[in-house]
Amino acid sequence: MSEKIIKLHDLRAPALAVPAAPVAPAGLLTDALSRPLHDLRISVTDRCNFRCVYCMPKEVFGKDYPYLPHGDLLSFEEITRVARIFIAHGVEKIRLTGGEPLLRKNLEHLVAMLRALPTPSGRPLDLTLTTNGSLLARKARALKEAGLDRVTVSLDALDDAVFKRMNDVDFAVADVLAGIEAAHAAGLGPVKVNMVVKRGTNDDQIVPMARHFKGSPTILRFIEYMDVGASNGWNMDEVVPSGEVVRRIGAELPLVPVGANYKGETAARWRYLDGGGEVGVISSVTGAFCKDCSRMRLSTEGKLYTCLFATRGHDLRTLLRAGHDDLAIGGAIANLWRGRTDRYSETRTADTAGLPQGARKVEMSYIGG
Ligand code: SAM
Ligand code: SF4
Ligand code: SF4
Repeated sequence: MSEKIIKLHDLRAPALAVPAAPVAPAGLLTDALSRPLHDLRISVTDRCNFRCVYCMPKEVFGKDYPYLPHGDLLSFEEITRVARIFIAHGVEKIRLTGGEPLLRKNLEHLVAMLRALPTPSGRPLDLTLTTNGSLLARKARALKEAGLDRVTVSLDALDDAVFKRMNDVDFAVADVLAGIEAAHAAGLGPVKVNMVVKRGTNDDQIVPMARHFKGSPTILRFIEYMDVGASNGWNMDEVVPSGEVVRRIGAELPLVPVGANYKGETAARWRYLDGGGEVGVISSVTGAFCKDCSRMRLSTEGKLYTCLFATRGHDLRTLLRAGHDDLAIGGAIANLWRGRTDRYSETRTADTAGLPQGARKVEMSYIGG
């Protein structure tokens, strides 16, 4: 292994403590800042077939990179069990992510297992997936048949040369567009497309992307390039603030703001004045949305993260494999959420500067976006 390789997922994770007295799930958990636990993001693999420069740059994620061995991954049965416990504690929305989730073999089996889980309210679980779209044309129908509701596809450019500059592999834009079409055709809509904007790399694609998806059933959203992880060499100069994205589109295709669909919606929505649909902007850097953040993240190897910018996870897998029952594991999760105070984006500058020596923020490819 070369010296440059740092085993990013090998951050010491404190084991979660099982409470002495069982905590019966009440369908609602709130954290120390009164935020309810509502969403769970599950990373099903730490591997990816892209090398997006803002996420898994080749210099770090080279051919010797030590991905998790298979035995460290949570099995579909373990993931389903964790999901069942989270649902009992109030989670209504689950998103599968990665790495590239469609690289996990037979993912549709997991989708079917999650779809079969009952919810306390009787309302169906909202089950979605985020993908780079490379395998979507092949898998859309099976995912829909297994019970997936919707997909979000990441696409950072319409121009092949620019797309390549972002994902650093030779994958054709047309194949991702075919994946989006297949998702629509399979009934996985409305499909959302996420474009991460990096100044000087793909910001010339903002308006072409807006034009391309305007008037189509696909909802395009622009994401500010974030300082996640420790690999991408993030620099504020490379962030294009959402305000600028809206101005640049609006100068050519006039826009008006639309209200949020629901509390905690991360994207600010803008509608084309001529009725050509809408776009969203996600201001992960310039407009923190921590006050409504209701999301827990489960890593591929079963660590829980209470924030995308966490420096360490909490080891759930050990509890799962130690034979504890659901009540005990639910109690450990409940205590973790109740103690949660994370609000990194609101305090970003201070937190980035003040990380303890040796602490590294977890990688996006490891816990998912
Ligand atoms: N591989 C899948 C994909 O790309 O859609 C799922 C995992 S990926 C980590 C999830 C999302 O995180 C993608 O939309 C990706 O563009 C976004 N992402 C990754 N690194 C980011 C960064 N530094 N800033 C903003 N978004 C980022
Ligand atoms: Fe892979 Fe998604 Fe990260 Fe790109 S953003 S490297 S597709 S995990
Ligand atoms: Fe949630 Fe952490 Fe992002 Fe704030 S910084 S919105 S707490 S994940």
